Amino acid sequence: MKYILPFLALAFLAFSAQPSEAVEVLHNYYSMKEDTEELANQYPDIAIYSEHGMSTGLDLEIFSVDVALNITELSQEELEALPTMYIDGAHHGNEGMSVEATFLFLQDVLERSAANPDYLAGKRLVVTPVVNPDGYLQDCRNNWNGVDLNRNYPYMWGMYGTSDTRGSCPASGTYRGPSEGSEIETQVNMELMRGMNLYVYFSAHTGSNDIVLPWKITGEFAVPIADWDLYEYFLNESTNVSGLTYRDPSGAGESIAWGYGARTGVSVIVEVDDMQWSPIELTTIRGALSNELLMYDLAWENLELFGGHLEIVYENPSSVTVKNIGWGAAYNVTAGSEIIEIIETGETKKINKKSNVLSYKRLIQEGEEADLTLMSVNLTAIINTDNEATPSINFISITLCLAIVSTLRRRK
Ligand SMILES: [Zn+2]
Repeated sequence: MKYILPFLALAFLAFSAQPSEAVEVLHNYYSMKEDTEELANQYPDIAIYSEHGMSTGLDLEIFSVDVALNITELSQEELEALPTMYIDGAHHGNEGMSVEATFLFLQDVLERSAANPDYLAGKRLVVTPVVNPDGYLQDCRNNWNGVDLNRNYPYMWGMYGTSDTRGSCPASGTYRGPSEGSEIETQVNMELMRGMNLYVYFSAHTGSNDIVLPWKITGEFAVPIADWDLYEYFLNESTNVSGLTYRDPSGAGESIAWGYGARTGVSVIVEVDDMQWSPIELTTIRGALSNELLMYDLAWENLELFGGHLEIVYENPSSVTVKNIGWGAAYNVTAGSEIIEIIETGETKKINKKSNVLSYKRLIQEGEEADLTLMSVNLTAIINTDNEATPSINFISITLCLAIVSTLRRRK
């Protein structure tokens, strides 16, 4: 008996290692940082690696990669105006597969963009693989202060599903922190996101293999999502490719609540897997994340459709006819934010040019700051007298001139 157990263990190991490929090991903080920097450096025309913050306890750098076409030639203002998809991982340090997901997606976009610049044209991707380096290095959910970073954001902070007691490592916990946005890691992530024209924000976690909404829309503490039609459109499209279903979050003050509530990007948690640090034995890391990566691809490839998106289908001296090809409605609003007209998804409308400026917004949600990035259509800017004699010249869809109100006020 004494010898049987070791024998069985050996036999099991020999058997389980059968597929000839070596068992893949997930990154750790140092290897992820090195690989991310190396990856970005392979694409100097379209990617910039940066370190833009330090963790609370161990002074580990928080690093990101910024991706856009000819990125080194863009001014900060031009970069910040581009429709942006932001993905981050490891708010919870013990959710290693979330980091792998962000890294693999970054790799995919860089490879595809290098082969085909159209894949990147007109938009921007920002990736932060590790929001919580201290936790990630130590396999702890919380940051150095025992705060659950995904309960610390200043939007609905502390409303439900949080604790007022400091968590310890490796025990979990949902300590919201002493005040909203109290943690350095939270602040670093917010500062980064304030420099984006945010269309989509995916925050990667692991555990439940599904999608989490920015806040509860059912039951106690439910608050409607203003752009629910858009969310629903995207979630349905997403389920079609990834099979992932969505649910309410379990706690308030999550990064995605701030992402949508304050920064007006369609924001969800993608719970990328049901495992955390276990070595991958039955598949590859990429194989384990294939559904989530398909969902990321879908969002990236349709980024400009997140919200109302108007195209001109006909124009003459007195009017333009526009079609909304976006996944959400476009809203004609007054200066006082009153909605006076809606162009629904798929709808075509004729607009007289006699009015000067029609302000069409791509979302209803306005965010906490009054002047968040939204789009408006300036009709005067598209009146082109040269075309009056030949109105047919604009038959082909032309994206309306979009005046981007990009006033990214930064809190210092
Ligand atoms: Zn998590």
